[in-house]
Amino acid sequence: MPNRILVTRSSMPDFDEYIDEIRDIWDSHWLTNMGPKHKALQAMLKEYMGVENIDLFTNGHMAIELTLQALNLQGEVITTPFTFASTTHAIVRNKLEPVFCDIDPVTYTIDTDQLESLITDRTSAIMPVHVYGNVCNIEAIDRIAKKYELKVIYDAAHTFGETYKGQGIGTFGDASCFSFHATKVFNTIEGGAVCFRNLSLGKKLYDLKNFGIHGPEEVSAVGANAKMNEFCAAMGICNLRHVDDQIAMRKAVVERYNSHLEGVEGIQLNAVQKDVKSNYAYYPVVFDEKVFGASRSDVFEKLSENGIGARKYFYPLTNTFSAFHGKYDVNRTPVALHISKRVLTLPLYADLSMEDVDRICEIILSCKK
Ligand SMILES: *Cc1c(COP(=O)(O)O)cnc(C)c1O
Repeated sequence: MPNRILVTRSSMPDFDEYIDEIRDIWDSHWLTNMGPKHKALQAMLKEYMGVENIDLFTNGHMAIELTLQALNLQGEVITTPFTFASTTHAIVRNKLEPVFCDIDPVTYTIDTDQLESLITDRTSAIMPVHVYGNVCNIEAIDRIAKKYELKVIYDAAHTFGETYKGQGIGTFGDASCFSFHATKVFNTIEGGAVCFRNLSLGKKLYDLKNFGIHGPEEVSAVGANAKMNEFCAAMGICNLRHVDDQIAMRKAVVERYNSHLEGVEGIQLNAVQKDVKSNYAYYPVVFDEKVFGASRSDVFEKLSENGIGARKYFYPLTNTFSAFHGKYDVNRTPVALHISKRVLTLPLYADLSMEDVDRICEIILSCKK
């Protein structure tokens, strides 16, 4: 059997580049707590992402969780179930009530035509997800948030390095939370960041990621521990040097996939949106069994038999998790349910070879009846 292909493969710098980068950590003995690498990466990211304000975290999940805490939200938060567990869990772990809005059938982001009908007098915020790197309907979300005085926190875990109408994606809403997990377009091994509009929110976040410690003799909030350490920051510094090349290579992979799959009946592909500079984070394909002749699961099995690990991403929907004991009615998000049953995310990473893409597509097309 040819080599096994997983859905993703973490980007890494050359070994020697990383060793060079961490050498001064040995000299200083400064391992964590906002040291020189943390500061340097923060400055580099500010520039790269085109944002005014950014803080770094131990992972994307804590970035989201602490942002919700820092905003001191109450009651209900409107979000979507077509996402990673983290988005919904962050809401619930803050003792807030997630209210699930359906998604748009083309971009898979929050359906802003339905958003307003879910707002009650208990709604305090909207947490939309730029899922697969597809940018939400920012204008509509802004308008609705203003009208009802709601906070907007974007789960921007999939949109590292993207711009919308030439503006850094982290500049929208009250805050945007990014993940730098090993599997993401840009990684710090584990890591995350919050880009925020308001400086007082930034100050709260800075304290919250360090136990709520505000000064040597003052602990002003019940914080957590979510600081990015120096080794992760050093990995980020190295990876950031190569991220543009990595994104260009991802783009070539996406275009190769498109060359095989575009126009195939029964397959819905994910198009790059107008006004968006894409990072080519994911390659989701939606299979219509009636037209294609094989289901998502048939294709998944066939790829699996050939050593290719596609992912049913995002399935199951978060509002069906057994953790919630049937609390949420999945029939209220029928489009999300429909897509989650039919979507398959294909392997995509910078050094996936064109030959492998050809082989993956050949296997997929061999399922077609
Ligand atoms: C990866 C991811 C997160 C969480 O990020 P971690 O860095 O893994 O904690 C949150 N939301 C979405 C949509 C993600 O894909």
